[in-house]
Amino acid sequence: MQIVNGFKNIVRNKHTSLAAFILIAFAAASARSATSETNSSFPDADYAAHVKELRKKAPDDKFTIIVTPPFVVIGDETPAAVKHRADGTVAWAVKKLKKAYFAKDPKEILDIWLFKDKDSYEENAQRLFNKKPDTSFGYYSGIDHALVMNIATGGGTLVHEIVHPFMAANFPDCPSWLNEGIGSLYEQSGEENGQIHGYTNWRLSGLQDAIRAKKVPSFKTLCSTGTNEFYEKDRGTNYAQARYLCYYLQQHDLLKKFYHQFYKNRREDPTGYNTLKSVLARDDMDAFQSDWEQYVLKLRFPD
Ligand SMILES: [Zn+2]
Repeated sequence: MQIVNGFKNIVRNKHTSLAAFILIAFAAASARSATSETNSSFPDADYAAHVKELRKKAPDDKFTIIVTPPFVVIGDETPAAVKHRADGTVAWAVKKLKKAYFAKDPKEILDIWLFKDKDSYEENAQRLFNKKPDTSFGYYSGIDHALVMNIATGGGTLVHEIVHPFMAANFPDCPSWLNEGIGSLYEQSGEENGQIHGYTNWRLSGLQDAIRAKKVPSFKTLCSTGTNEFYEKDRGTNYAQARYLCYYLQQHDLLKKFYHQFYKNRREDPTGYNTLKSVLARDDMDAFQSDWEQYVLKLRFPD
């Protein structure tokens, strides 16, 4: 196993006890440097102990471990590639998502497993979590306190999955439609004026087809879709409809306002539908739906 810390040092695990000591020291240093930046709620010693456990769990010595609060990133790409993911994707997304939405960190330190290809992903998910993945990209498992990714499919799904543990910590009753709407918005994301920004993506064309076929449910229906219905009875439009509602709100500078208003109103308005109407300043939601559908039909991917 190798560890890369914030100072670009690489320790090879040839002399186990010394390496273990350095690993903990570096992990703590790395956690400390990042802690001040991300305002992590865990002490350095917790990360050091966590990294030590993770080292035992790693399938072989080719895994690089990088503390990226509130996560620990562990992957079997090259150490430089893992570091690039940890800094460029994970630390970046955490910082931007916290700035826009989330005041609290998840309650536990979570692992982000970045498996370098399909074989590594499927074999190791089975070995470590006793589960064959039901998606080829990656998933968040609350029970395992882990994000499990086939990173060969790109960093987009990683940003999507990072949203879920933060949503669980900050808005535990958030309905699936908004949890997945915001998660999938940032599957294709970058930075605009210092803010995380979602762009059009592969979910667009299927949604446009469904709009043309008049198969997209009303927003009242989408908002009242429970967790089981959202995932199990999806007619194929739930993720895309939620994503492009969030996209529309973002483009009208209303997404953050909607999220924070909805959180405030969550007891009186658990589906978010009334808050959506009020943030949009629209009473006639049929008219809004048809405006939104026309808007979505004009979007392009790639743009
Ligand atoms: Zn998701």
